[in-house]
Amino acid sequence: MRGSRTALSTQYRDVTFRSLAESESALRALDERASDMIYRFRFLPEPGFDYVSGAVFAITGWTAEDFYSDTALMFEMLHPEDRRSAATMMRSPTDENHRLRLRLRHRDGHWVWTEHYTVPVVDEHGVLVAAEVIARDISDQVRIEDELRESERTANAVLESIPGPTAVLDAAGVISMVNAAWDEYMLASGAAAGRYAVGTDYLAACDEAARAGVEGSAEVAAGVRAVLAGTHDGYQLAYPASGRNEDRWFAMDVSPMRTEAGGAVVLHSDITERKRYEEQLRHQALHDSLTGLPNRALLNDRLEGALGRARRDGNEVAVLLLDVDGFKVVNDAYGHAVGDELLVALAGRLRTLVRPGDTVARLGGDEFVVLCEALGDPAEVAVVAKRMVTGLAVPLHQGDGSELSITVSIGVAVGRGETRGHGLLHDADAAMYHAKENGRNRFELFDARLAGRAHARLTIEETLERAIVNGEFRVFYQPIIEIDSGVCVGMEALLRWEHPERGLLAPEEFLSMAEETGLIVPIGAWVLQESCRQRRRWQQSHPALGSLPISVNVATQQMQRPDFAHEVAQAIDAAGISPREIVLELTERSLMDATVVPTALELHGIGVRLAVDDFGIGYSSLTYLKTLPVDQVKIDQSFVNGLGRDAVDGAIVTAVITMTRALGIVAIAEGVETEQQRDELVVLGCGHAQGFLYAHPAPPEEIELLLERPVGDPASARSSAVLVRQVSPAPSSAAS
Ligand code: C2E
Ligand code: MG
Ligand code: MG
Repeated sequence: MRGSRTALSTQYRDVTFRSLAESESALRALDERASDMIYRFRFLPEPGFDYVSGAVFAITGWTAEDFYSDTALMFEMLHPEDRRSAATMMRSPTDENHRLRLRLRHRDGHWVWTEHYTVPVVDEHGVLVAAEVIARDISDQVRIEDELRESERTANAVLESIPGPTAVLDAAGVISMVNAAWDEYMLASGAAAGRYAVGTDYLAACDEAARAGVEGSAEVAAGVRAVLAGTHDGYQLAYPASGRNEDRWFAMDVSPMRTEAGGAVVLHSDITERKRYEEQLRHQALHDSLTGLPNRALLNDRLEGALGRARRDGNEVAVLLLDVDGFKVVNDAYGHAVGDELLVALAGRLRTLVRPGDTVARLGGDEFVVLCEALGDPAEVAVVAKRMVTGLAVPLHQGDGSELSITVSIGVAVGRGETRGHGLLHDADAAMYHAKENGRNRFELFDARLAGRAHARLTIEETLERAIVNGEFRVFYQPIIEIDSGVCVGMEALLRWEHPERGLLAPEEFLSMAEETGLIVPIGAWVLQESCRQRRRWQQSHPALGSLPISVNVATQQMQRPDFAHEVAQAIDAAGISPREIVLELTERSLMDATVVPTALELHGIGVRLAVDDFGIGYSSLTYLKTLPVDQVKIDQSFVNGLGRDAVDGAIVTAVITMTRALGIVAIAEGVETEQQRDELVVLGCGHAQGFLYAHPAPPEEIELLLERPVGDPASARSSAVLVRQVSPAPSSAAS
């Protein structure tokens, strides 16, 4: 179009130098074909149209007669605002083409946008005599321009009306538009100035941020690229951002522009409130509003999850269904408010009775469910159920000071991998009814086979309880030897159970159960008291033995008791011995529990010495030796066992000895059975040992016989004969 117009104007210019007749005929010829308007307006001798092409009539609606008869028409047709510029154009004395947009009034009154090119015509004296003009209808173009301008204005308005930081990217990822919020956001986020401004390459900025280690930038760049390439329909990312006072959540949303040119819109919005609300809704949907416990929906979900894991790991899952006995009576007698209070108190107490990973849920009414996962031995569940029956039977204190006693009936079902969740709940329910029938305030197991095993276990627990009462426990003693001299420098107290039917039992037969049931606490207390008393008896009857400190093993559960140090002090006082005469052997595991650290410090404070038992097998972190007041380290027998054979064991023992020596801690090798092991220990620089090579653990009367011979025979040094250094009544500083 543009090309044809230029050609036309050139031809037309030539025409001006020919005769008027000639030019008119040429114009007419063009006129037939041209859609452009062509006219010649003369100024001299009197103004008027010399020529007006057909297109002018077609476009303006005015006729030839109108034009030729009314000279003023040309100006009347013009929009008042355009008249001045039109006059200037027509009269311009220069020989240049003038291009001007003018609005012409159509004969029927509407305005037509036109664009005019003017060529001034001068006579031989250089006087301007006429103007030759080509004009065209540009209404469509103007309309499109208007629309574009309008849509840009709209786009801007839309962009500004979006509260979140928003940018428009072109197809190449260059930022073409942003709203004010975007600039503010980038400023606040500390992005390098201008990095995300209009005209910059958004993808390049993301890549740079990724290189600088800004988390998530690489993912964002990949997501935006995918959207721009059209391989993804959108990209979303929710990300937390730390605000000044609180952490907030933002969502980034990249969506493609559905235009021919392509591009994408990047929008960030603050979704903190929504997140919170969602969280709240989720919580409400899955929790009971009265007690805050998981509800049936969440329980079902967790149950299915637990069964899935059980299938995979070969574990078992137990469901305990609890129902309050006579809850209806409580409700009727005291009112619903009291009933609710009771349920809340019960929920709280239930939570304290389960392991951290177990789920306590409320099914509704007075029904609760406890879900226990990963039971090593399914029979354990009986222990849990019993603990609940007794733990919940404690009276609940009411607001008015009165007490309300309640009991529960529990039905227990254990599921293996193939069990369905609802089936398990159903079984537990059946068992619960059974418990109600059998007199309430008790539990029943659904599975008969399991019931047998669990009851057997409870029997052991009961016999263990009875053993305490009946005094079936004994303490054996095993000497601790100074290797170089072969002299006994201490004793370890080791627990034995004289079972009425099964005979003498070593700790491995009952210790884990004593720990699980918590009975280790009273048993351990007894061992400590008995060891203190033995120390006192020996002081009086066998001064040589009475000078030796006694090492007593302490279980983690004992250490976790807040008043344990006090109990130890009491046992020592009661026996009338000195705290320096007792060494407490702690496990590595209990020292790793931060809550026992104050107790360890307190014990050290009262003068009791501390040893780390079975060193090396548990949490081989040596660091705590530096921070805790440890006096002795007992190298576990598994390392001693490999001495002379296993290079790694040798290296570990060497490391332990080197370190303990640097810290002033006594190292004692446990389980020394052979002379070869002993010799190896001497080479490695370990000063103390304990083991069958020297003596087996034995009851006090046997130990007395064994150790009654005094030191004297130098030949026996470094032998495996156990000797006791003859001492005066002053307390020994053995193994210190
Ligand atoms: P431990 O404290 O490491 O005690 C050393 C264990 O090694 C004892 O086993 C002892 O009989 C055994 N032993 C000693 N010399 C040798 C040897 O040369 N070769 C072999 N193979 N074994 C040897 P015991 O008496 O069966 O005790 C086992 C564990 O039970 C003790 O290990 C200790 O952790 C725990 N234990 C014992 N008595 C008590 C107690 O009163 N309270 C607590 N909480 N735990 C105790
Ligand atoms: Mg020990
Ligand atoms: Mg040990």
